[in-house]
Amino acid sequence: MAELKKWNEVPIGGIITEPGTARKYKTGDWRVKRPVYDRSKCIDCMMCWFYCPDLAIIQENSVMKGINYFYCKGCGICANVCPRNAIEMRPETEFSHEEE
Ligand code: SF4
Ligand code: SF4
Repeated sequence: MAELKKWNEVPIGGIITEPGTARKYKTGDWRVKRPVYDRSKCIDCMMCWFYCPDLAIIQENSVMKGINYFYCKGCGICANVCPRNAIEMRPETEFSHEEE
């Protein structure tokens, strides 16, 4: 049996003890719809990158490179703001056979 901590050894709640812990949470597990990106329609305006609340849009030197499905929650904001309809939200069940 694990040794129990005394009251004054238990960490105080609501405190972030190290930086960057959000990286450990793979919020893509929450997704019910998946944004699917069509490179042929994209004009690299970066609107999707700017508005994505999870920094799940991958870009390099202002060139859209795709979507990080480990963190994308499937909110659909990127698809809504895209001026070229280059991102389509599709049911996650269509991809359930695939491994990420
Ligand atoms: S669906 Fe939402 S979380 Fe996923 S890439 Fe688009 S804006 Fe980001
Ligand atoms: S918003 Fe649409 S056109 Fe602009 S970078 Fe994103 S996918 Fe490409």
